[in-house]
Amino acid sequence: MRTVLVLLAALACSTSLMAQDRSAPRQAPGPEWSLAIHGGAGTLSRSDMTPERDREYRAALQAALDAGVRALAGGGSALDAVQTVVMQLEDDARFNAGRGAVFTWDGGHELDAAIMDGRDRSAGAVAGVGGIRNPITLARKVMEESPHVMLSGKGAEAFAAEHGVATMPADWFDTEARREALEKVKSEQVSALDVDIKFGTVGAVARDRAGNLAAATSTGGMTGKRWNRIGDSPIIGAGTYADNRSCAVSATGWGEYFIRVGVAKAICDRRLLLREDMQVASDTVLAEVKALGGDGGVIVVSDEGEAVFSFNTGGMYRGRADSAGLNEVAIYADE
Ligand code: ASP
Repeated sequence: MRTVLVLLAALACSTSLMAQDRSAPRQAPGPEWSLAIHGGAGTLSRSDMTPERDREYRAALQAALDAGVRALAGGGSALDAVQTVVMQLEDDARFNAGRGAVFTWDGGHELDAAIMDGRDRSAGAVAGVGGIRNPITLARKVMEESPHVMLSGKGAEAFAAEHGVATMPADWFDTEARREALEKVKSEQVSALDVDIKFGTVGAVARDRAGNLAAATSTGGMTGKRWNRIGDSPIIGAGTYADNRSCAVSATGWGEYFIRVGVAKAICDRRLLLREDMQVASDTVLAEVKALGGDGGVIVVSDEGEAVFSFNTGGMYRGRADSAGLNEVAIYADE
């Protein structure tokens, strides 16, 4: 009898401890706000990167980071900050999103984008759209002004027209470098999966002063894609995810693998269910991608405001900043 009573008392005690743990405020408050951005995994190889190009890429990343920092430091929402960063990178022809997007096999551009609000996990995405200057703006409209999460192709373009989303003529998106990449792929001088030309997606994740998380990703997909192929970027849970209880993730890389692993949600679930360290959670899921034969990377901001990178390519155009003074951009893996 005594043993039973002791056991019951122990059980009651541990149950109340568990209840306390769940409701207790988190220890070790992180920075007030934080931001991480990427301009794609699979950078130019060092031999193709002149000092001038290197400077230009870093300046472009820094300018996008600064735009997000201004939004967050001024008390703006994580959602506005990630949209601002992504719009700026979409307009920059160096990156594979919006202007400067890769060419499809048929010589056009099919753009994908997604945005997610960690407060209530509302999300908007578009896939395979043409002529939309900033696909991330359209994704946000889908989230806020339609009852749907994802629209594609002609329907998404009609929705854009009804909602006054800015368009551009098809050739505004063209760049010489991307055309050369398509020609190389077509003439089989390089594989469509050559790491130097296949990636370049852009993305941003943020935590604002109110503790809200958001994620955004935008891409032209992969050079020479056919048959209306859609990658991971606009797929909620694969290339993009945000949940205030765990983290915000934007991915870049070989989309087919990121879809199969469900990368962005897998990382957030590890955080939510296991309270795993953010770097460990990200590296573990990226290792799964690698084990299947895929490559790429992610940027992550945790519910506590830690900004983390994880990638298995030679580089990833990236940057991060927070209210505690962190502010850096980088390209290669060894920096
Ligand atoms: N993940 C993108 C896709 O598969 C490509 C990239 O990240 O560059 O469409």
